[in-house]
Order: sequence, then C-alpha cells, then structure tokens
Amino acid sequence: MMREGTAPLIRRSDYAAPAFWIRSTDLTFDLDPAKTMVINTMQVERNTEVQAQPLRLHGEDITLTRVLVNGASVSFRHEDGMLVIDALQDMPAGPFTLEIRNTCAPAKNTMLSGLYISASGFFTQCEAEGFRRITYFLDRPDVMAVYTVTMRANKAAYPVLLSNGNLVDQGDLDNGRHYAKWHDPFPKPSYLFALVAADLVARQQNIRTRSGKDHLLQIYVKRGDLDKTEHAMNSLIASVVWDEARFKLRLDLERFMIVAVEDFNSGAMENKGLNIFNTKYVLATPATATDDNYTDIEAVVGHEYFHNWTGNRITCRDWFQLSLKEGLTVFRDQEFSMDMAGAETSRAVRRIEDVRRLREVQFAEDAGPMSHPVRPDSYVEINNFYTATVYDKGAEVVRMMHTLVGREGFARGMTLYFERFDGQAVTCDDFAQAIADANPESALARTLLQFKRWYSQAGTPRVTARGRYDAPTRTYTLGIEQTGAPNGHGAKEPYVIPFAVGLIARDGRALPVQLEDAQASGATEQLLVLEEARGFYTFVNVDTEPVPSLLRGFSAPVILVDGLVNADLLVLLQHDTDPYNRREAGQRLALSRLIAAASGDAPLELDAPFIEAMRTLLRHPALDPAFKDLVLRMPSESYVAEQMSPVDPQRIHAAREAMISQLARALRADWEWAWTAHQVSGAYSPDPVSAGKRALANRALAMICRDAVALRDPVWQGRTYQRLKSATNMTDRLGALSALIHAHSEAADAALARFHDQFRHEALVVDTWFSTQATAPELDGRVFARCKELLKHPDFTLKNPNRARSLVGALCAGNPAAFHRSDGAGYVLWADRLLELDQINPQIAARLARSLDRWGQLAEPYRGLARETLSRVAAKTDLSPNVREVVTNALAN
Ligand code: ZN
Repeated sequence: MMREGTAPLIRRSDYAAPAFWIRSTDLTFDLDPAKTMVINTMQVERNTEVQAQPLRLHGEDITLTRVLVNGASVSFRHEDGMLVIDALQDMPAGPFTLEIRNTCAPAKNTMLSGLYISASGFFTQCEAEGFRRITYFLDRPDVMAVYTVTMRANKAAYPVLLSNGNLVDQGDLDNGRHYAKWHDPFPKPSYLFALVAADLVARQQNIRTRSGKDHLLQIYVKRGDLDKTEHAMNSLIASVVWDEARFKLRLDLERFMIVAVEDFNSGAMENKGLNIFNTKYVLATPATATDDNYTDIEAVVGHEYFHNWTGNRITCRDWFQLSLKEGLTVFRDQEFSMDMAGAETSRAVRRIEDVRRLREVQFAEDAGPMSHPVRPDSYVEINNFYTATVYDKGAEVVRMMHTLVGREGFARGMTLYFERFDGQAVTCDDFAQAIADANPESALARTLLQFKRWYSQAGTPRVTARGRYDAPTRTYTLGIEQTGAPNGHGAKEPYVIPFAVGLIARDGRALPVQLEDAQASGATEQLLVLEEARGFYTFVNVDTEPVPSLLRGFSAPVILVDGLVNADLLVLLQHDTDPYNRREAGQRLALSRLIAAASGDAPLELDAPFIEAMRTLLRHPALDPAFKDLVLRMPSESYVAEQMSPVDPQRIHAAREAMISQLARALRADWEWAWTAHQVSGAYSPDPVSAGKRALANRALAMICRDAVALRDPVWQGRTYQRLKSATNMTDRLGALSALIHAHSEAADAALARFHDQFRHEALVVDTWFSTQATAPELDGRVFARCKELLKHPDFTLKNPNRARSLVGALCAGNPAAFHRSDGAGYVLWADRLLELDQINPQIAARLARSLDRWGQLAEPYRGLARETLSRVAAKTDLSPNVREVVTNALAN
C-alpha cells in the first residue's frame, strides 16, 4: 500500500490515449490463499497514433517473478509504482507477446479489492482499479482485451471455478486439484474481469428470449442459502424481459451468472457474464428479509443486469466519465422498478423514494466539501467518486433528457447511441450527443451545449418562483428565476431546467393550463423549459386564483423556493393530482414547524390544522397506504439540518421527537384504526400493495408503542411483543422489534435477546439487529452507550463491510442526535474506529470518514469539537490516500 507522501491529483484534462493496446490476455491462476501464482500472457500492440514511449504497466501489492517479450527476457524497472519496459518503445507496429508472471496473497487482502478470500473461497473485485492488484496490466477502461482464463485449485475446498464468458474445458489434476478454462468472446476493460473459486451451489434456469435464443441463468450462493435465491432469480428474469421490451436490448450471453459473497465493499458488480453481489442484494426469504430488502434486490439485480449494455457493451473512456454508465444505469433501474410496480400510485411511490434519497444525500454532498460535478474534473482516489452525485444526480440528468425528448425519442436516442458506440469506450458528451441527434427538433437538441452544464457544474441550483393572479384578465403570471449553487463553488452559468407546472383551484379543481400564445387543450399540466436566468410565463383563461403546483414529479434536481404559505400547502396536500407534490406539501408543512422549533426558544406545539390535515390524510378513503406512509413519515433530522444554519443536531432532534410524539398522541385512535385496517393475511408476497399496507401498519404500531410508553401503558407494549413472537414474515417482525426499541419500551431488551437468539446464524439479519439499535432515537445518551457496548459484542467485526456499516456507519451517518454529542464522545468513537478501519479497508474507511463532511455548518460546541477531531485524524502520517482525500477536503472547507 502506498502510504508515504501525498497521492497525486488526477485531472480529466490530462487524458491521453494509451501508448499500447492489449488485444488479448491468457491468464492462468494457481489458486492458493497464501500465495497465488498468475501467468499473464498478453498480445500487445503499440498504439501508432501516439508518440512512441516505454510500456508502463499498473501493478500494486503484487510480486513480479518474470517478464518475457516474444519468449525472450527483457530488462524492466519499477517507477512510481509502475512496471516500466523501456525496450518496447522501439517495437515495430504489430502484435507481440508479453508474458508476465507474478504472485499475490489473497488471504492478506483485507481491502477486498483484487483477489481476496471470503468464507467460502476466492473472489475478485476489479472496479475501479483492482485488476492491478492481480497482475500487471494497462488497468484503464479504454484498453479492452479478450480474456481466456484457466484456474487451478483444490477440488474439495473450491469445487466451483468460474470466470467471465463460457466454460470451454474442465477436468481433474493430481493432488486433489482440478481446473477449469473460461473464454469471454467480448473484448472488455480489466475492471470487468472476475474470477470465483469457492464452495458454492447454484439455482439455475434456462430461458428462451423473444428472439428465440436459449440462455442459462445461474445464481450461486453458499451451501444452505439456496432457498433464499428465488426472488433474485425472478428479478433477473424480469430484467431480461424488461430490457428487451423497453429498449430492444437483448441478452448477448449464453450464460449469465450471479455470485453472492458476504464480504463485499459495495452493493454489486457488473462483471461481464459473472456479476458478483453483496449477499444483501441476493438472499431473501419471507422469514429473513423485509419488503424493503425485496425491493432493493429487484433494483440491484436489474441495475447490474442493465450494465451489460450500458457499461459493458459501451464502457467509459476514463473514470471521469463514470456517470456515463452509472447515471444511465440508475435511470434504467429506476424505470424498471417503476414499470414493475405497475399501478400509477405505486410508480409514484417509487419516484418519491428515489427523490427523497437524492435530496437527503446528494444535495448534502453537493453543498459540502466533497461537492463535484456529475462528470468530475479531478480526483485523488477514484473510489471516493462512486457518489450520490455521479449515480443519483447523474440519473436525474438522464431523466431530464428523457423529459425533453419524450419516451419514444429517448428510446430512439438509445438506439443511435448503440449504433454509434457499441464495443467502444466513450464519454458523457458522446451519450448526450446521441440522444440529441436522434431528436433534432427537441428542446434538448436546441440547447445541448447549455444542457451539458448539468455535467460540468457542481452544486444544486436554486429556483425561485413567484406567481401573480390578475382577476380582471383571468391570467396567472409565473416568474421563475435560477441562481447558481448556493455553496460558493464559483459563478454558475444558467442551466436548462425542465419545469413541470399545474394549477390547483382552492376548491380542489385541477385547472386547465394554457400558455398565452397556445391553443386551449384542456391539459392540466405544462412543461416549461427555463433556459435563461429568468423567465415569465402567462397562463390565460384561469377562472380563479390558483395555487401553483411547481416542479411536478421533481422534474429537475433543484432547490425550489416558491413562497407558498401554510394555506397553499394545505390545498396541495389535499388536492394536488401530482403525487410527488402532494407529498411534498405535507413535508413542507412539517418542515416549517420543525425549523421554527429548532431555531426558536418555544418548544414545538403542533397546531390543529396540521394535525387535522395529517388525520385526513391517514383516514383518506382512496389513497394508497404506501403513499400515506410516505406522507406521515416526518422529514429526517439530516434533511432538516440541511435547511438550517447553524445546525444544532440536539435541538432538531428534540423538535422532531416532540412532533412525532404529539402526532402519536393526537392521532392515537386513528393509528389504532390504521393498524387494524392494514393487516395483510395469507401467504407473504412482496408486491407493492401488500408492502404498502405493512408499511403503514408498522408505522401505526410504532406510533402506538411510542404513545403507550409515554403513558406507561403496558397493554400495547405487550401486544407489540406478541407480534414480535407471532409474526410470519420479517417485515412484521422487524416492525414490532423496532417499535419497541425506538420507543425505548421496557420490553426492548427481551425483544432484542429473543430476536438475536432466533436469527444469530443469519448474518444479514444480525446486521439489521445492530442497525436497529444504532438508529434508535437518542434518549439521555442511552443509544450511544448501547453502541459502545455493541462494539464489544462477539458478533461485531470491522472486517466485514456490512457489519461495520450496520453499527458504526449507522451511528455516525444515520443517527445525528446520538453522534453529535456536546462532550464530543461521538467524534472520538468515529476517529478511533476510522483509524482502525483504515488499516483494514481504506475504501470503507473513506466512506465512514464522510460522516463529518458537514462539520462546518454545526453550531458550537459541535463545530469546534468536530474540527479538532478531524485535525487529529489528518495529523496521522499513515492514512490511506482514500481517507486522506476526504479529511483534507473537509478541513479545507
Ligand atoms: Zn452501477
């Protein structure tokens, strides 16, 4: 590991084509946990379009044993962590053979990047720069090679040997060893290479796609987990069908494999034909997984499958283009999940959830020290740029293109994108150009250069909207103004902002929207496209003063300032036909009350109109329970914090707790009704309708429990405990458990013990057991104290990323009131665990490091304590470049 000095800053503007191409590689692995031998035989060619220069290969934490060029030895040197072969600069044009032998040590690889060991065997993770930890290579995405892979390993310990592509040979060897040989016909960048040698079993299924081709789908898991793979397989089949139906993108492989592994840095990885997944996104049974887990599995299986085209068939020229594949693929998985959800209201619920995540995580990121454009201009450690900005804001940028060219137009654009670039490594510009070129008459084509500022400018734009009704002329004029990011990241040029608008009469009617120079169409929604710093739009034939419903469906990733008052928001909460804005109105009503209480001296005292609006919503005869659940979920503490400055996490917590407790009390009878009315009977199904009922019932139970604890009423606490015992699925069981824990019920400890006892052999459920405790609402420091105890629990380890996140991540990033303490003990815990984790796994450590990104916004004493702690970490000389980059940025703020 390179730990001395400062790692260099990599700049997008420094991109240069590679000096050599690697056309193919033949890899042989003699797999051994302590010392694996790798023979890497490459067909290499000089890139005659660039100036002749030595061959420089990446390599990290590996030991070179020999180098041969066309079978003859050659001199080489190591420079700046690279292997340099000077003689190759004089090679004539045309291919030559380069053979490299090296060893690596999978058992010592705790970073989980490259070739490593997890419980059942050998696994790889190569994105972004892990392949160089396996062998010397041009480990960059614009170098694409055809791979042939031979693995040799002990047969009893590692009966399953997998790599990308097709199995071409296998057999037994001496000494209880066996081998397998795989060939992947598709040239691919090294980050898509994968290898698995482990003791696994598979669920498999043959499918015939519309085009009449047969394919083998397999899901590999450790022995004993086969019964947990049905949902993942169904999700995979649905993904194959969907991509063919929606985008005409067919499965191009004879064999598509998913392998689940317990130790994994991220969610999942789209290696060509051999996706490797965190078990969290594969394994599910009704007894062990919640509705949310089921939803996530479907989304992640879809996401990785969709990468086969958007990412693998067309890949990124360099890592600055990461959003080319990630933004687009997130957009695709969001669309997939919406189409799978079916009913209009279930689709809306998905959209609300997606936007909630964006605004909670990405907006905060973009307002903080790690703010960067969707296409970053520089980085120290690329792993720090797998961010909400690249993924989720990137998906919004693609969604805006979709909005501007329409659904059909976007499909045409995708087709042109593949016609132009299939098999190549390209840029975000190339993608945007293809979508625009396929739609020459569109607003996107007209504004393309300006539109692409969404890729180049960091920060969240702010849009201020003001409307004025003129009764005599029956016109409504809307003024919209955009200003650059409020975070001081330099002046911003205006964006192209698709801005969907509706008008709601105070009696609840959706009014027709007709711009002054347009024909009447009866439409109740209009898409405005703001291109200048400001625009004015006049609607005619407006028969009464309306309440505007702005930025419908969250049509652009901006902060909207609209000046709507309580009375307006109450109208929208009751009547808006746009579900996104309807829910947003409820959130805004809650938010203004939370901010007032957290910044003033008067304790929060909920007013009758707010309570009645919530009651009406909860009791509404027609609304979807899943939607109601989202409205009745109060804004998170971190979201409230982002709307305030300075931020006092304890005051926000107190205000929010008071709000929830008052809603629990005031609506007590309604919650009891909701609990009873939303019980789901019959066999478990994760469909959105059943899941929505369970979500609302569980929220009701949590509210009742909270109120019961406040009233020292044992009856409902007892019932909740009963529910914990008798539940027939994990959603309901966890609903009962968290209701008790989060209400600080006296029955909580017994519930925790019982739950742990029942599921102690289910690693993913144990993760949930930890995170449920770590995210409980803080009360007199009890939650923090519990977390400190849990660090010593025999089941706890920092070595497994899921487990580390379930306790330390959940506390530091998911529980502001337990973390931001006036004695600074939360920060001390953060720093100590961070430094420990950095020695084990810098990528995971760097993510934990980001919990203090927003320290500069904090009120005293938190601010001073946080800065001191950050400085203490920054003063360490042996930090990984990953953590170094994050804390340096944070302190530079
Ligand atoms: Zn992805």
